[in-house]
Amino acid sequence: MGENIKKKAEQRLLVAPHGARSVLLHSCCAPCSGGIMEALLEIGLEVTLFFCNSNIHPRSEYLLRKEENQRFAERLGILFVAADYLPDLWFEAVAGLEQEPERGRRCSACFSLRLEATARYAAEHHIPLITTTLGISRWKDLAQVDACGRQAAARYPGVDYWDCNWRKGGGAQRMIEISRREGFYHQEYCGCRYSLQETNRWRAERGRPLVERELEG
Ligand code: SF4
Repeated sequence: MGENIKKKAEQRLLVAPHGARSVLLHSCCAPCSGGIMEALLEIGLEVTLFFCNSNIHPRSEYLLRKEENQRFAERLGILFVAADYLPDLWFEAVAGLEQEPERGRRCSACFSLRLEATARYAAEHHIPLITTTLGISRWKDLAQVDACGRQAAARYPGVDYWDCNWRKGGGAQRMIEISRREGFYHQEYCGCRYSLQETNRWRAERGRPLVERELEG
């Protein structure tokens, strides 16, 4: 079977590539990961959830997203691992890219930092496959996320990146349904300080109430 046909079949049937039995799922938040976690469990994979998001600003928002994600993962019986929260490292990674629009080079640097840490954790813990929730949102450029994921995994022999389109096969709808069912916190911005500023600029132009978060700290 050609590689493309095989890949399409794997996505339709949701089969992990290369017969992997376990996967490290990089997660940005509970709403984006809820449906993916359930789908991975349904096909019998051993799932570890890796919450690695030093981009989230401020810390109170980070803790809100992390704790909600942890509660839901643990309820599903999934091992939840939180990487260190290192906002200084994140600001360093995106230095000079502050004014980039969403989907631009700042986002590539942001994805790469998080997915690189994910691939490293997978290599250290002998997990052969990583994937991420980052591309499930329609606000994200899936090809951009996948390029960063592939590059990150390529640096760690024995780790593959699963470029599954989680929006397909009803995934986008499932994400919405689970968020509603679980009453997840509704996020108003992607996560970083600059996306918060962008959101508030957009809201101010339309006379809408601003998202109130501290910009410092
Ligand atoms: S907009 Fe989102 S993906 Fe882009 S840099 Fe900010 S947090 Fe990262």
